[in-house]
Amino acid sequence: MATGLPEPEPLLTLVEALRCLPGVGVRSARRMAYHLLQRDPEGALRLGAALNQAVTDLRHCERCNSFSQEPICSTCRNPDRDASLLCVVETPADQNMIEASHGYRGLYYVLQGRLAPLEGVGPDQVHFGQLMERASDGQVREVILATNFTAEGETTAYYLADMLRARGLNVTRLARGVPSGSELEYVDAGTIAWALMERRST
Ligand SMILES: [Zn+2]
Repeated sequence: MATGLPEPEPLLTLVEALRCLPGVGVRSARRMAYHLLQRDPEGALRLGAALNQAVTDLRHCERCNSFSQEPICSTCRNPDRDASLLCVVETPADQNMIEASHGYRGLYYVLQGRLAPLEGVGPDQVHFGQLMERASDGQVREVILATNFTAEGETTAYYLADMLRARGLNVTRLARGVPSGSELEYVDAGTIAWALMERRST
């Protein structure tokens, strides 16, 4: 780290730790560290405890791969959900957006990633095998691909559609009301509800 002043070790360690956040370089990590220490030491302690607890207590649901405190999450255990529909999303944030649209009563599978060949993220890194197994449980009749409408999300949907169809599954994709290049997380609930209703076979 380029700095004229010698800084205490715990401060350097904190700055280094904050850099594990996406998009955070040395400069913003320093700003965060100064802010926490100077303006909000209580918040800093809460943050540390919450991080510790979340990392220790959370696991991936065995069925949908989202975060859960139980081996099977409450959504997957809910008997009122339609087990014949399986909606595939990239992240838990996307799952929340689809829930918020109130247009879907089926179950989910959360990829926790997407194919990104340019960044070296291939099918082995995203663990598609678990999804194939989940979709082939005999109850799923339709798999709805709700990956983002970005280049990576489209590539992922294309690849998954092939694999799922090869297993005899009916595959649909969200309708094109969602603007090209956009991430579901930033699309309004009404548009998502419409895109679900108007979904097309792939
Ligand atoms: Zn689950």
